[in-house]
Amino acid sequence: NPIRRLVLGNWKMHGSLAGNGQLLAALRTGWHQTSDAASCDVGVCVPFPYLAQVESALTGSDVAWGAQDVSVHEQGAYTGEVSAAMLADFGCRYVLAGHSERRMLHGETSDTVAGKARAALAAGLTPVVCVGETLEQREAGQTLGVIRGQLEPVLALGAGSVSRLVLAYEPVWAIGTGLTATPGQAQEVHAAIRAALAAIGCAGVRVLYGGSVKAANAAALFAMPDIDGGLIGGASLVAEEFLRIAEAG
Ligand code: PEP
Repeated sequence: NPIRRLVLGNWKMHGSLAGNGQLLAALRTGWHQTSDAASCDVGVCVPFPYLAQVESALTGSDVAWGAQDVSVHEQGAYTGEVSAAMLADFGCRYVLAGHSERRMLHGETSDTVAGKARAALAAGLTPVVCVGETLEQREAGQTLGVIRGQLEPVLALGAGSVSRLVLAYEPVWAIGTGLTATPGQAQEVHAAIRAALAAIGCAGVRVLYGGSVKAANAAALFAMPDIDGGLIGGASLVAEEFLRIAEAG
């Protein structure tokens, strides 16, 4: 696989000022990028209030960081929103866009998600756009159609934009449930996403898999030809486990 891998943690709404220190210190000392082309990029997406702490703990390390959401707006009267420029101010490299929890619990549409990706790119961040079907949709045979629909407004941003973002396939039924897509199930969707990317000249864009990835299943998933790394929820809260996943990357 010639595409450089990425293993990205998503802390979700977990952590505390007191508790984060140990995890961050363990990541800082435990992960060292080699110049080896086979090495992967590693980062953590944390709750907004901890960005300053994470910036201070990880600056100069080989672990990047980012946020879990971003406003579509540049600035203005949008109480509670956080702009991409603000994230850039705190050294973020990545920001998630359209995580299924945002789509489901906060009604984010695929158009909104594309707007967030665009806002992130404009501030020099790398958006990680999440797509994925529910169990009901999978069982109805709608998986690839759902993914295509979620990708459509993102791909419409154009090759210049798409080439600078990351996609993550996260089947909703596999997130936080302990159910992982089999490598074959994931690869089938990843191959379809790769084909959609290739059709606009962006075959080199990284497509991560997410959904109950752990050290025990990471290597088999990452061995699939179109899986370029992982988006890691629960397992990113335990340094040892997360580092072992990164080593599989
Ligand atoms: C996620 O939050 O993106 C995720 C994949 O969670 P988990 O690894 O806990 O299933």
